[in-house]
Amino acid sequence: MAFGKDGGRVGRAVLEIENVSKIFGALTVLDRCSLSVSEGEILTLLGPSGCGKTTLLRCIAGFAAPDKGRILIDERDTVPMPVNRRPVGVVFQSYALFPHLTVAGNVGYGLRMRGTDRAGIDRRVAAALQIVSLDSLAGRYPAHLSGGQQQRVAVARVLVLEPRILLLDEPFSALDAKLRTSMQMELRELIKRLGMTAIFVTHDQEEALTLSDRIAVMRRGRIEQVDTPQEVYDHPANEYVADFVGASN
Ligand code: ADP
Repeated sequence: MAFGKDGGRVGRAVLEIENVSKIFGALTVLDRCSLSVSEGEILTLLGPSGCGKTTLLRCIAGFAAPDKGRILIDERDTVPMPVNRRPVGVVFQSYALFPHLTVAGNVGYGLRMRGTDRAGIDRRVAAALQIVSLDSLAGRYPAHLSGGQQQRVAVARVLVLEPRILLLDEPFSALDAKLRTSMQMELRELIKRLGMTAIFVTHDQEEALTLSDRIAVMRRGRIEQVDTPQEVYDHPANEYVADFVGASN
């Protein structure tokens, strides 16, 4: 993926966020956020707790509506799109697996809801489990899986629905430090292999530097800088960004 000198997008935009604001009571949680994400790109929303990362992700997913601005996916305004029609898949922090369903049952759940026929479900679930190397565990229940395996189920459950954009909210926070690093590499490789577009939310600068093609650094509802990890680190836009990514400005 090629980027302009200012970290600007060159490829085709899958997602465009235009001047999005979100206000809860007296609190402006998102303040005129603009961002463009291109096909096959991994972008991370990085910032301290409470800066609005999850709210922005929820607006993209359709769980929350912006008070101002627009969010376009493949050049279509998402505001009129019902949540279940949005071409996005969300991997939650807690994975939110159904404990009473097997791995295959969890992965096939969304397809069942969409009315896919039995043979179609079986075929697509098998393919998704193969992608995340869980084919041998299809009959297991979540309680009998490791943290890393549970995360792979959560990812397969989303991939099976073939979303245009993968949204991941702090997906490594439930894993211990050692596993976290290997899962970060594994997930990045998988997303790149599939050519998917992904947006991660994290407060962990190391994680953002490892995972991302570009990073959007947020503070109090505003996007302070959007750039490649190298640029954010070497040329932080201001002292806040420098402090946050640990660079010496
Ligand atoms: P982050 O993901 O960066 O930790 P959030 O997007 O979760 O930040 O939250 C940003 C701010 O918005 C916080 O101050 C939070 O308390 C507030 N907030 C989030 N959701 C709601 C809500 N539904 N009602 C009121 N305030 C909210």
